[in-house]
Amino acid sequence: MIWYPYEQMKTMKAPYKIIDAEGVYLYTEDNKMIDSVSSWWSVIHGYKNPEINNAITEQAKKFAHVMLGGLTHEPVQRLSEKLAAWLPGDLDYCFFSDSGSVAVEVSLKMALQYYVNKGDLKRTKVLALTHAYHGDTFKAMEVGDDEDYHFILEAYGEKRYCIHIPTKIPALEAAFEKYHSELNCFIVEPLLQGAGGMRMYDVSFLKRARELCDKYGVLLIFDEVATGFGRTGNRFVADLVLPDIIVLGKALTGGYIGHAVTVANHKVFNGFYSDAPEKALMHGPTFMGNALACSAALKSIELFERGNYMERIRHIEKFTRKEMEGFSDRRIKEIRIMGGCVCIEVYDSHDIAGYRQFAYERGVFSRPFLNYMYAMVPYVINDAQLKKVLDTMKEWFVVNM
Ligand SMILES: *Cc1c(COP(=O)(O)O)cnc(C)c1O
Repeated sequence: MIWYPYEQMKTMKAPYKIIDAEGVYLYTEDNKMIDSVSSWWSVIHGYKNPEINNAITEQAKKFAHVMLGGLTHEPVQRLSEKLAAWLPGDLDYCFFSDSGSVAVEVSLKMALQYYVNKGDLKRTKVLALTHAYHGDTFKAMEVGDDEDYHFILEAYGEKRYCIHIPTKIPALEAAFEKYHSELNCFIVEPLLQGAGGMRMYDVSFLKRARELCDKYGVLLIFDEVATGFGRTGNRFVADLVLPDIIVLGKALTGGYIGHAVTVANHKVFNGFYSDAPEKALMHGPTFMGNALACSAALKSIELFERGNYMERIRHIEKFTRKEMEGFSDRRIKEIRIMGGCVCIEVYDSHDIAGYRQFAYERGVFSRPFLNYMYAMVPYVINDAQLKKVLDTMKEWFVVNM
């Protein structure tokens, strides 16, 4: 029996059984629906992309996987070179892992050990944001701040190694003033906090964070697992403000195979580069650098560049703004739009209960959570399909007066 994610198994509604998928569409036995979630924000090129499928198949003819301990291979070499060239600044050193949560763990371990390697054992704390979501593994939960995901940590009592602040510059300055000598890093989901409720904030906050991190020697980590590859309307938010470490996942492989990467700059890497074995990064997920995943990622990046995706995303944002303009309802607290993300936040979560089925009946797959009804569509969506997604969201409020 399958134990499903984020579900009370006793009361959960039956999931829709998918038998085929192509482009933006998911197919069940008797329905066809636009995936407005992009399978947790990852399937940016849509399903059954012939080129990605082909890249995976061609690699599978050689080998699907070899470990990176003592071995290497062309797809992982090419992908790390591509990422080093494609990512801004000197974000050049790629540590691969099998999921976003693990890649976040790696980034936090890097930041802590960076100081341990220098002999500084006082910098044990992490600065993070309120409403942060960085994954479901333990350290990722600790730096996260969302009771709905992380409440089990209450059993441990107060968090000793993490401080949370809102996305406000005075709070940021106060936190650095007070804790700077104890901080090894500041980790953020830049501009768009996803699972914490599609919360959006201004780039000025990140610019100030960069200044303070420089001033006090604190490493800045961007968790771009969700925001990377164009979701915010920027290729990476790191194009606007340069972090010391960036974490990528979700859309890295176009959503074809689970994989993630933690990319460090030269300063961080040099903190480990030494004749001393104990200064090495002691981490190594079994499936890191998986050859099928790397082949899919290389093709995904190629499609992204070749297909003028940033232009597409700007169009999706413009179209969404136009469709949502002037739309309001007494139950709606706020409508937020950024790049390829739109979120309707309601005051009361009961007001969107039943939306999943409502959307299904209209040919749209949606998975609202808590007070948030949202869409993060595949970038290959056309105007008619996008209009249908947005109309369905609006129609819910009109039909259920
Ligand atoms: C989804 C997500 C993660 C976790 O990635 P997994 O692949 O699910 O482990 C981490 N950080 C952010 C910002 C995410 O959205």
